[in-house]
Amino acid sequence: MKIIDFHVHAGKFELLRDDIQELLTRRPMESNVNIAEVFSQPEILENYLTSNGIHRAVLLAECGPGTNYTIDSQMIAEFVQNKDMFIPFGSINPNYHDTKDEFWKSIKLGIKGFKFYPADHSFNALREDMQFVYKMCESLGLPVMFHTGLTAQKDTEQQFINPLDFQPLAETYPDLVLILAHGGKPHWYEEARTMALSFPNVYIDTALIDPLSLEQAFPDLEKLSQKIIFGSDWPVVGSYSNLLEQYRQANIAESIICAIFYQNAERILNDALKKQQDSVPQALIAMSV
Ligand SMILES: [Zn+2]
Repeated sequence: MKIIDFHVHAGKFELLRDDIQELLTRRPMESNVNIAEVFSQPEILENYLTSNGIHRAVLLAECGPGTNYTIDSQMIAEFVQNKDMFIPFGSINPNYHDTKDEFWKSIKLGIKGFKFYPADHSFNALREDMQFVYKMCESLGLPVMFHTGLTAQKDTEQQFINPLDFQPLAETYPDLVLILAHGGKPHWYEEARTMALSFPNVYIDTALIDPLSLEQAFPDLEKLSQKIIFGSDWPVVGSYSNLLEQYRQANIAESIICAIFYQNAERILNDALKKQQDSVPQALIAMSV
């Protein structure tokens, strides 16, 4: 079975904040895996994922305090160069960036989507200067992902973590592909489910949801199976092989696993990349005249 992982972090390990490095180093990994190396070196990450059966992976920028603001769109765009299996997603942090400038900069770098972190970066996802970004992502075909659910970052408020907080965006931008990362873990799965079933373009990623309780989190998994995509959240999740083993133990129906691990993500990415092929060059030309 082919697997697409929609939620992988990478960059330069030594640039992460000390306490985040420590936290990640404590995660249980396969014995032959050096997390700092896998995280920082494209070839090694490619080999690690490929050896676990991963076909493609979305790599997420995270330009915020936890990464000392360093793992920005540019770093991720450089990381993925000449690596077809990686799809680069940027990060815009309105407390740090001019949102319009950063959007265009990211587009020119070849960024294919974005992940936003309202909780970790302390911003209201509905704020005015982000609207331009959502509107452009909708019209150019760039999927956006939001962190939802409790965040482990210790020095932030737990705000904008509820899936229903994003309802106004789903209503205002019906063609925007909106992914609720973590499905509102661990308390708000029901809200995530409501969002995914109410809006055709809203999806849930499985990052950090325990595979063994996925069917408990989403009791009618079959009904929701077209709206869930697999995300590992490596390296936060720890050992990749262990994660996949837990999915095997969960005994989820084969057709649901195929949808979650591959078909849904492939559909989203194919549609997005196809749309971007025409829309992005046109937008860049229109912007420069
Ligand atoms: Zn993550």
